[in-house]
Amino acid sequence: MTRHYNFCAGPAALPTPVLERAREELLDYQGRGLSVMEMSHRSPEFVAIAEQAEADLRELLAVPENYKVLFLQGGASLQFSMVPMNLLGKGGTANFLYTGIWGKKAQTEAKQLGFGVHVAGSSEAGGHTEVPAQADLTLSEDAAYLHYTANETIGGLAFDYIPDVDVPLVCDYSSSLLAEPLDVSRFGVIYAGAQKNIGPAGLTLVLVRDDLLDRRCERIPGLFDYRAMAEAGSMVNTPPTYAWYLAGRVFQWLKHDIGGLEAMAAINARKAASLYAAIDASGLYSNPIAVRNRSRMNVPFVLADERLDKPFLAEAEEAGLLNLKGHRSVGGMRASLYNAVPEAAVEALIAFMADFEQRRG
Ligand SMILES: *Cc1c(COP(=O)(O)O)cnc(C)c1O
Repeated sequence: MTRHYNFCAGPAALPTPVLERAREELLDYQGRGLSVMEMSHRSPEFVAIAEQAEADLRELLAVPENYKVLFLQGGASLQFSMVPMNLLGKGGTANFLYTGIWGKKAQTEAKQLGFGVHVAGSSEAGGHTEVPAQADLTLSEDAAYLHYTANETIGGLAFDYIPDVDVPLVCDYSSSLLAEPLDVSRFGVIYAGAQKNIGPAGLTLVLVRDDLLDRRCERIPGLFDYRAMAEAGSMVNTPPTYAWYLAGRVFQWLKHDIGGLEAMAAINARKAASLYAAIDASGLYSNPIAVRNRSRMNVPFVLADERLDKPFLAEAEEAGLLNLKGHRSVGGMRASLYNAVPEAAVEALIAFMADFEQRRG
């Protein structure tokens, strides 16, 4: 068996030791005679798995006591509507920073539901190559919160600061949560679909500050209600049990194999720095993002001659470097360097790119 290097933007690579452990436990979880997938979510075995995962996540991110951690479904995209439904029930306007496709979708969803929407900052004029500066943010007077996207997964544009505003910050952290330490206390709500940097698809993490649990709309579906979910330990209905278990294994891997988020951040910084350096030094590849806003997780790049795109992708795949094609909306290439992508993968990619340039560039 060969595991190739996987640069997919999502569902993305998982740590090999996590998959090996899952394989060991697949048929018979710790002598119980059944798989985690076959357990009642109310069983003591699964409740222990769920509680351990939450405790490990809280430890990794140093989540303060006054935050709930929810293990939900529906992907990050469902949060585009759950956030306004939970935070705008007492009125006010949803404020957004627009730095790419995901932020735009969040904004569109709130508008579609009939909520007031205000764009408090945008990188659109510059083609989403630089995030708006703190000094240029203009919130509406009745802002209930400010929503932004920490890392725009498609454009490869990342915030290099946490906005400092007087209203709760809501952040879509889908593609960069757990890539580095984070001061959770700066935020009202943090959410992330699991399939980028946390675990398999099917699970969405939401961290929400307690005082925000009473702002929900009166008419809200039970499964969308943060408070109801918090009170039920994310088990209003059957949660995505196997995805929850695997995310828990990823948290254990981060703690014990990697040594925590400081250590993870150092590895991620090295991976991104070496790939961007290779791109900048080449005559064939380029990345347009302002250096301070370059994503460490998603590195988009284009080839100077787009006729080389196809052979580049075909040869990369043959070399065991998978999923380098850019998002269908922007084209070009994209290498996603999430936590589970090892440094050796990035070295192999850089060597391949240099070789390809020498032969074809
Ligand atoms: C992938 C992604 C989403 C969408 O996630 P789903 O779980 O597919 O809904 C939203 N925001 C960001 C930043 C993403 O990377």
